[in-house]
Amino acid sequence: MHCTAKRSHNSPSRTLLTFRRLPETGQWRRESLLWITLEAVNKARVEFVITAVNRVITKVEKYRKCASSMIFPLNMGKLYAYTRCNRSKTGQFLMNIHEYQAKALLRSYGAPVSDGRVVLKADEAKTAAGELDGPLWVVKAQIHAGGRGKGSFKEADAGEKGGVRLTKSVEEAAQEAKKMLGRTLVTHQTGPAGKQVNRVYIEDGSGIETELYLALLVDRGTSRVSFVCSTEGGMDIEEVAAATPEKILSFSVDPATGYQPFHGRRIGFTLGLEGKAMKQCVGLMGLLYKAFIEKDMEMLEINPLIVTDGGDLKVLDAKVSFDGNAMYRHADIAELRDTTEEDAKELQASKYDLNYIALDGEIGCMVNGAGLAMATMDIIKLYGAEPANFLDVGGGATKEKVTEAFKIITSDPQVKGILVNIFGGIMRCDVIAEGVIAAVKEVGLKVPLVVRLEGTNVEKGKEIIRNSGLDVIAADDLKDGAQKIVKAVKG
Ligand code: GDP
Ligand code: MN
Repeated sequence: MHCTAKRSHNSPSRTLLTFRRLPETGQWRRESLLWITLEAVNKARVEFVITAVNRVITKVEKYRKCASSMIFPLNMGKLYAYTRCNRSKTGQFLMNIHEYQAKALLRSYGAPVSDGRVVLKADEAKTAAGELDGPLWVVKAQIHAGGRGKGSFKEADAGEKGGVRLTKSVEEAAQEAKKMLGRTLVTHQTGPAGKQVNRVYIEDGSGIETELYLALLVDRGTSRVSFVCSTEGGMDIEEVAAATPEKILSFSVDPATGYQPFHGRRIGFTLGLEGKAMKQCVGLMGLLYKAFIEKDMEMLEINPLIVTDGGDLKVLDAKVSFDGNAMYRHADIAELRDTTEEDAKELQASKYDLNYIALDGEIGCMVNGAGLAMATMDIIKLYGAEPANFLDVGGGATKEKVTEAFKIITSDPQVKGILVNIFGGIMRCDVIAEGVIAAVKEVGLKVPLVVRLEGTNVEKGKEIIRNSGLDVIAADDLKDGAQKIVKAVKG
């Protein structure tokens, strides 16, 4: 058997063509598979990706007509679902930061925010609070989740109140900070498990006249940056959108002109601002837009934006997430990453440069190539099971990388079986086989393992597995592999 791989660089999607000689007949067969890099999926607006996919699918359709090629199924709905799933997780594609970090960043652009101090240890709280003027000190739990004010702590000694506490003295502020640190805050965004509070932010409290809502986000409908604003600040914007959509104004900014003062005035009128607050609004919106673009943000939410009792606009809360793939060009932002807030498995994977995304199913997959990984997930679903993860070990994976990938998969208690599906193009099958064996020896194998190898050094790879004495189920092709693992798990 002979295999060659040719890639046509057709950014952002690529088609991977493989040719192989069938041992039975000696005939050449062409396989085409859709290859969409995760970077492309993430970077582009969704509709852009869909357009690209359509283009490639048209191509693949052509191949289907002219050759007896095997085409891996790829369902667009699922692609979108996977993309969305990636986005909802922290770490790999979206990078979140804490409120206090977001405020410091916005302050550097000139936005009005209160003075505040972050506190990591309870005995630092009093000194921190003492540096602020008062007469109001606000103590705020710093976790990567919203709804802190209305949340509650699991531990009784954290007190009845939520994750945002108004206090009247330095001593009281220090006491509340002490109660929150190390305790578990549950909000409607954390899920029932809650999140441990490792940092609190003590802020110089503001007198509030009105609470407003403001957000900037990447609008997938228009492929532009949109402003969203509402007079209903301090509330869940999803609730406002469901009950009183007329109270929300949303419009996008033409990238050719960028932000213009009329954008700011339109927001100001909608929010009912007058006098100096209106003037401040025009300036504030401009600098927020600038920060959004310059720092590759995905979302910037200020809820609430307030008019103080003195009639000034102020950023009272700030939630910012960035495009994770752009972090290489923002060393200052990348430094703000708080890994204690992230999924441990995804974090470990990112250390080894593995594209891993935890999913909800029972079959762990180890695949090379994002397109093949998606096809593998699809075929697992086709035969009646659900993938436990997306994992692309990449083209140049080493034995160590494969071992690490295997460890990450097996550390997921939901995994009831593992399917290794590798096409050895750049990656050699014997390297994969050695990695799998090394990993199994190191972590043990408590669930069925199906391995499908194809491509460069495939015989050597199969031999390594055969001689290992391990209980590995060999599969001939993708369909066979998927059927075998589903059968092993579901019986
Ligand atoms: P979230 O609950 O996680 O969204 O946290 P926020 O920072 O939005 O705070 C929740 C609520 O606490 C706000 O909507 C305000 O009503 C209140 N709050 C926060 N900071 C201050 C402040 O400086 N002064 C006053 N009076 N209230 C505040
Ligand atoms: Mn808020």
